[in-house]
Amino acid sequence: MSSGKHTLVISPIGEVDSAGRLLEHLGVELREFFGHDTEVLPLLEEKDLWLDPLRNQVHSTPILERLSTLCPPEALKILAITRVDLFIPILTHVYGEAQLGGKACILSTYRLTDGLCVGPETFHCRIVKEAVHELGHTFNLRHCRDTTCVMHYCRSMKEVDRKSRALCRYCAVLLEDERKRLIRGTDHPRS
Ligand SMILES: [Zn+2]
Ligand SMILES: [Zn+2]
Repeated sequence: MSSGKHTLVISPIGEVDSAGRLLEHLGVELREFFGHDTEVLPLLEEKDLWLDPLRNQVHSTPILERLSTLCPPEALKILAITRVDLFIPILTHVYGEAQLGGKACILSTYRLTDGLCVGPETFHCRIVKEAVHELGHTFNLRHCRDTTCVMHYCRSMKEVDRKSRALCRYCAVLLEDERKRLIRGTDHPRS
């Protein structure tokens, strides 16, 4: 498999979806949202992750560093997806983490099933929102105060369900500027 220029790489770590439709669905959604082709490319396995024995969770930051070096250089961004529960030391858990303005981000499906009667539709919808949110950070978007904007920081699944999967007008402009800058930058490096 070869990575085209400016693609978004979706990189599952181990089994993330037994039915197999999740990654396909996500690829279509992300392509539509960001306007870049997507490609599924596994680069790490679950056994490559270091499980913190005290917390029984995986620290996400080192995974991002590994992904950004493993990722094909011509790919624009990489989003990893894992079933394992992720943390960063200052928080009990994270739904995901991203390198702000960098290349790599990750999301965990572990807590996305929280809540009563979560059907596959809600689950997929949460994954799309979290994927867009984390990729948004790699395009240099920060947290947004607008509670309906996909870049809003959510502390619970209730808040995730409440926000839309779209950007507010302000964040949409920032994303467009950043995308243009990146694509121009790779084609014609600035002096
Ligand atoms: Zn965030
Ligand atoms: Zn916003």
